[in-house]
Amino acid sequence: MSLRLVLVGPPGAGKGTQAELISNHWKIPAISTGSILRANVKAGTELGKQAEALIAAGEFVPDDVITELVRDHLHEHAVHGFILDGFPRSVPQVDALRTMLEEFQTPLDGAILLEVPDDELIDRLHSRAQAEGRADDTREVIAHRMDVYHERTQPILEAFDKRGLLVRIDGVGSVDEVHQRILDATGQMKAARTQGTSTDSGCGCTCTSEGN
Ligand code: AMP
Repeated sequence: MSLRLVLVGPPGAGKGTQAELISNHWKIPAISTGSILRANVKAGTELGKQAEALIAAGEFVPDDVITELVRDHLHEHAVHGFILDGFPRSVPQVDALRTMLEEFQTPLDGAILLEVPDDELIDRLHSRAQAEGRADDTREVIAHRMDVYHERTQPILEAFDKRGLLVRIDGVGSVDEVHQRILDATGQMKAARTQGTSTDSGCGCTCTSEGN
């Protein structure tokens, strides 16, 4: 039985690294909107041209554009499981994901939030800027991305919490330590689903229906 997960967290929380590790462990594809967009920029596609300046400025790609991108990828994976890295990132994206998964009849098992204090995030992003040279890892853009996270993404946590889906993970520590915490949490989600106590019923309560 596969897991259907989203991974949420501020820039620099380690979402990409942890999504890969979870993907390998549970044998589910990691769908990273940031990586897909960067690949499109590199390949010079229409989407890449549309997204390039927004990414470089630390702004979001429009909700409808990113939702269609995710739909294309989820379409084939929804039934067998996935971990979404970097989507949803705004309240309209949460609603769009929910509608999409209702349509596919594949409810989420959980939303994992990687929590890291802002000052540590900023240190990590500055180190990544030196190591990888990402266009959006400059000092000003980092500050802007943090603001956008607090303004646009933080409100989605409440939406997941209300549905009983939010799991907060301490993102401070070594990659292995954080990975182990996520493994423990996702192992529990898997067990809950096996026992039929998954919580994303749509009614905000814990019940045994998987239907949404
Ligand atoms: P990331 O690699 O997840 O930090 O994403 C890099 C950049 O891609 C973000 O700063 C946004 O410009 C864009 N992006 C990635 N995912 C989304 C999303 N779900 N909604 C809007 N923009 C996104």
